[in-house]
Amino acid sequence: MSIDSIRTVAVLGAGTMGNGIAHVFARAGYKVLLRDVEQRYLDRALDTIAKNLDREIKRGKLAEAGKGAVLERLVPVTDMSTIANADFVVEAVPEKLELKRHVLSEADHLLREDVIIASNTSSIAITTLAALTKRPDRFVGMHFMNPVAVMVLVEVIRALQTSEATFTATMQLAERLGKKPVAVNDAPGFVSNRVLMPLINEAAYCVMEGVATPEAVDAVMKTGMNHPMGPLELADFIGLDVCVDIMHVLHEGLGDPKYRACPLLKKYVAAGWLGRKSSRGFYTYPAP
Ligand code: NAD
Repeated sequence: MSIDSIRTVAVLGAGTMGNGIAHVFARAGYKVLLRDVEQRYLDRALDTIAKNLDREIKRGKLAEAGKGAVLERLVPVTDMSTIANADFVVEAVPEKLELKRHVLSEADHLLREDVIIASNTSSIAITTLAALTKRPDRFVGMHFMNPVAVMVLVEVIRALQTSEATFTATMQLAERLGKKPVAVNDAPGFVSNRVLMPLINEAAYCVMEGVATPEAVDAVMKTGMNHPMGPLELADFIGLDVCVDIMHVLHEGLGDPKYRACPLLKKYVAAGWLGRKSSRGFYTYPAP
């Protein structure tokens, strides 16, 4: 399908990523059917989007009058059947294969044959997800970064089965959202986590082995390498449990011992020190 005929986009899951994805599509002029399982999750998502739009207005990135128009284009829904008329779908439900299997098969049955389904998964193979549908050639990865409304990168991931037309349409669509799409082939961790997580993991080893304190490791990377955040600050932001899970995906998927999760990271997770969300990780934070 030509991307000019895409008017309505369904976003499945209104959590951290789903609300951001809905935000950027609505801001780019698309009608968005934002679907979650309970109204309270949708209310929370709309509240977050409204606050993020206010922030954009304050920073001069959106005209004051634009906020109402963006919000009007967002249609919160709990009934899955309402997505039947969507022209493009982004799946952003929790990272559980069984749940994704269920949601994708529901969507697959409801949607027109020509509609592309994109998954925002950060670690499940796009090739595996594509194979769960009857439209594997119209299935693609669209890996947005958190916070979605701010970060410009979108990794557009080609499954083994993704057609050229699907891939091109998704790249163009990401551009229309004002994003910078980057083409990536399906592989564990794609490029973003394949490169970032071993960096974070190695930073954790430096702390574990007493090479330097977390502050010193982060200072080296910020002042010496021009990283805006140190790897350990970033790990606390992402969640240390998420970092360990992604290291497991790399280790299992690539089979190389260089991807084994740092024991100190695993110990922190076992202690419930998950980073910002639990007020303690490599650093301490006020209660969320
Ligand atoms: P989240 O838990 O914040 O949100 C998921 C939402 O999906 C929840 O509101 C939940 O109620 C909803 N949901 C559950 N079952 C559903 C169903 N059947 N239909 C519709 N909605 C349903 O999760 P998240 O952090 O937004 O992650 C979503 C996806 O994005 C995951 O695949 C994750 O790997 C990926 N991702 C996350 C990040 C991140 O930084 N959080 C970054 C990139 C990609």
